[in-house]
Amino acid sequence: MITVLWAFLILAGLGLLLGLGLAIASIVLHVKEDERISAVEKMLPNYNCGACGYPGCHQMAENIVSGAETNLGKCKPGKQDKNYDPIIAYMNEHPDEDGTKHVPTVKK
Ligand code: SF4
Repeated sequence: MITVLWAFLILAGLGLLLGLGLAIASIVLHVKEDERISAVEKMLPNYNCGACGYPGCHQMAENIVSGAETNLGKCKPGKQDKNYDPIIAYMNEHPDEDGTKHVPTVKK
């Protein structure tokens, strides 16, 4: 019975230590995401269909904000809705910290 109790205490102690380590790591290693990414993502159709060539709308938004993606026309569902104007206006009003604007366009 004592052996089982020791095993339980050791496992519980390890669980607490590892949990504490993960909690500290999540605080220390936290990466703050650019808030423009979630704003642009909300303006996309959010079908996460992958028709744009990215795995989902979040990745498309990341690339629009970083300037790696300049063609909103790649989002086929958005093309049907023809509602890219809010994204273009938002990116025009929210440049990078150094003032660089990544304003996407709509190409075919
Ligand atoms: S094509 Fe449009 S709706 Fe589909 S994943 Fe890409 S951004 Fe999202």
